Amino acid sequence: MNDTVCMDLDSVRKLALNALTAQGFSADQAAAIADTVTAAERDECLSHGLFRIPFYIKACSNPKTDAHAKPELVEKDSSVIRVDGKNGFCPLALNVGLPALISKAKNNGIAALAINNTYNIAALWPEVEHLAENNLVAFAFTASNAFVAPHGGNKPLFGTNPMAFSWPREGRPPLVFDQASSVSARGEIQLHAREGHALPDGWAIDKDGQPTNDPTAALAGAQLTYGGYKGSSIALMVELLAGALIGDFFSFESSAQDTHKVGAPVGGEFIIAISPEHCAKPTATVSATARAEQLFAKILEQDGTRLPSDRRFKARERTAVTGVNVNKALHDQLLEYAQV
Ligand code: NDP
Repeated sequence: MNDTVCMDLDSVRKLALNALTAQGFSADQAAAIADTVTAAERDECLSHGLFRIPFYIKACSNPKTDAHAKPELVEKDSSVIRVDGKNGFCPLALNVGLPALISKAKNNGIAALAINNTYNIAALWPEVEHLAENNLVAFAFTASNAFVAPHGGNKPLFGTNPMAFSWPREGRPPLVFDQASSVSARGEIQLHAREGHALPDGWAIDKDGQPTNDPTAALAGAQLTYGGYKGSSIALMVELLAGALIGDFFSFESSAQDTHKVGAPVGGEFIIAISPEHCAKPTATVSATARAEQLFAKILEQDGTRLPSDRRFKARERTAVTGVNVNKALHDQLLEYAQV
C-alpha cells in the first residue's frame, strides 16, 4: 500500500494555507505559518513541516489563542526591538520584527528582538538563516512547555528549549545550526509514536523516572537534556533569556497556561543579531567571513565531518526537483481540514 503522497512545494504551501484559512486563521497568520511549514518540508525537517498544521489548529481550542492576531512592533530608541504577538503565532510576529532588527543591527552593530505573547511550535533556523542572508551573525532562543527534566531530576520542568545560530558566508548559503537542548525535539518523539517506532536509548524517562524506549511513555514522562548537565545548563540559559529577560513565561508557566491540553507553548523568543563589519579589528586585512571559510575548510578536510545545515541545503536542492513525500494519513487529514 502506498502510504505517502508526492507533492511539489507549491502544493504543500497551498494545502497548508487552505487548511489553516478554512479552520479560521486570518490570511496573514495562515500565510506566515504556511511559509515556515513549507520551508521545513523543503529542507526535510519533517517534525516542523505539514505534521505541525494539526498542532496549530488544535492550539486554537484554547480561547486565549488568537488566530487573527495582528502583531505590534514597539520600536524604542534603544537596540532592543519588541514585538507583541498578541497571542497569535510566532511566524507572523517574526515577519513584523525581523526587518526592524536587521536595520538596527546594521546601524548599531548589535541589536536584539524580543517577541512576546506568541505560540511557538516552529523551528528557529528560518529566522537566523534570514538574518545571515542579510550578512548578520545571529542567535535565537525560545522556551517551550515543561517537557524536560533538569539534570539529576525526574520531573518535567524545562522546555525542549532550542537555540539556533547562523553565520553569513560569501556566495553560498549561511552556516546554521538549530538544536533543542533536549536529546531530541518533542516532534521527533511524536513522529516515533505516529510511526510506531521505539525511541533510541537515552532520550526519555517514563512517569516513574525510569529510562524508556516507548514514545507514549516518554510523552507522559520527561525528556532528557543532551550531554547531561551541560545541556541542562543550556536549557536553563534559554529559560532565562526567552523568559525572565524579556518578561515572558518560563516553560513550566507556559504549561500552566495550557488549560485545554493542546501542547502548544506560549511565550517569548529572543533573537540577537550582530554585524560582522562593526566587530572587525581596524587593522584586519581579511574579513571575518573569509577567515571563517578557512576554519570550515579545515573541518571538512577530516573524513566523516560536515557542516551543520549542509543536510538541509542538500535536501533543498533535491526537493526543488523531486517534490516531497507526505504521509498519506496526514495529507488526508489536512484535506479534510481544508474542506470544512
Ligand atoms: P537535530 O539534532 O536534528 O539537529 C541539530 C543541529 O545539528 C542541526 O542544525 C543539524 O544540521 C546539525 N547536525 C546534525 N548532525 C550533524 C553532523 N553530523 N554534523 C554537523 N552538524 C550536524 O535537531 P533537534 O532535534 O535538536 O531540533 C530539531 C528542531 O526542533 C530545531 O529546528 C528546533 O528549533 C526545533 N524545536 C522547536 C521548539 C519550539 O518550541 N519551537 C522546541 C524544540 C525544538 P542539519 O539540519 O543540516 O542536519
